[in-house]
Amino acid sequence: MNTPNGTSTRPRERTAVRRLRHDAGERPMIVIWEVTRACALVCQHCRADAQTRRDPAELTTQQGKALLDDIAGYGAPYPIVVLTGGDPFERPDLAQLVEHGTSLGLHMALSPSVTPRLQPQILRELRAAGAATLSLSIDGAAAATHDAFRGVPGVFEQTMTAARWVKEAGFRLQVNSTVTRGNVHELPELLRLVLGLQTSLWSIFFLVPTGRGQQLQALSAGEVEDVLNWMYDISDRLAVKATEAPHYRRVTLQRKEAEATGRTIEHGPLYERLRAQTEAVLAQTPTRTRPPRPPIDVNSGRGFSFIDHRGQVYPSGFLPQQCGSVTEHGFRAIYRDNPLLRSLREPSGFAGKCGVCEFNEVCGGSRSHAYAITGDLLASDPTCAYRPAALDSLPERPGHTVA
Ligand code: SF4
Repeated sequence: MNTPNGTSTRPRERTAVRRLRHDAGERPMIVIWEVTRACALVCQHCRADAQTRRDPAELTTQQGKALLDDIAGYGAPYPIVVLTGGDPFERPDLAQLVEHGTSLGLHMALSPSVTPRLQPQILRELRAAGAATLSLSIDGAAAATHDAFRGVPGVFEQTMTAARWVKEAGFRLQVNSTVTRGNVHELPELLRLVLGLQTSLWSIFFLVPTGRGQQLQALSAGEVEDVLNWMYDISDRLAVKATEAPHYRRVTLQRKEAEATGRTIEHGPLYERLRAQTEAVLAQTPTRTRPPRPPIDVNSGRGFSFIDHRGQVYPSGFLPQQCGSVTEHGFRAIYRDNPLLRSLREPSGFAGKCGVCEFNEVCGGSRSHAYAITGDLLASDPTCAYRPAALDSLPERPGHTVA
């Protein structure tokens, strides 16, 4: 019997979704810290609506070190701390922050923009300071698509060069790709690209219509379902991660169950197109298959948290709901006690189908999409096409619709 939360004692089910080994209400597994909002790029989908200059109110070096001290206070297993922006390379004290976090036992990762600041020398310094993983954004398989996303001509070619430098400096390379209606058809060619770059993890981000991203066209729920199923198909070629689409865990469990029982799953036309193109790509790009990396069970405010450049804590970078300032209350106290964060850890309190879904303990829906589209962060996730059977027994009221 396959359980929705992947906690069954049968080996196949136990590994379908990775559960945290600690209490997600007590400590996060990943903390994203926006060390600055300054950035030289003008990306169309920028969450931060990044600025050209640093904000004088951003956390100082000492405040940043105190924040890292606070996070390290959890002890082992230490959270992963991702330094993002804006462009974190805009901060001259970046290596100091990385070195301090590493000395405390934290796993430090970087998410820079590709600008002239990203050079082999600074990469070597940051690697020596202890950062082990670095992510680069690639949003199109062709220069025209990526450069249009980033707002700067030539940045695609610079990113290819930067990816080589990142590998030469000894980092694990993560590639982040934002998927929209405008580039979804390029996913098979993007797969060819990220395989060629020897990417350790490919994070496919499902556009949240917030910040400058409101101008782009997000996928429909049916299209998201097709892309998630396509991701499941390619997960034996490289490690993939669905960002802001926690229902990838539901898809994974359903696909495992279908494989075990022989049940057929109906897919949409987008899936069929992506699958046909991917077969052609893989025929020309031979790669070894590998055991899929199971998706991990974290969600906004539940194993995951975001701190902005001024030290305000949020459930995620795409959920503009302030939960408190790290300089006033400390990160750990906010993460554990904030009522809004606590409510995000209780999926039975979500409205509509996410509240009654048999997968809600392991999924819970994208709270960022729910908030951006409905204005209610506890609403159903409108980007999920799944219709739980229990939905039919709910009384009709707002928030109980599928879409
Ligand atoms: S209905 Fe909600 S909880 Fe269920 S799979 Fe969809 S997004 Fe996840």
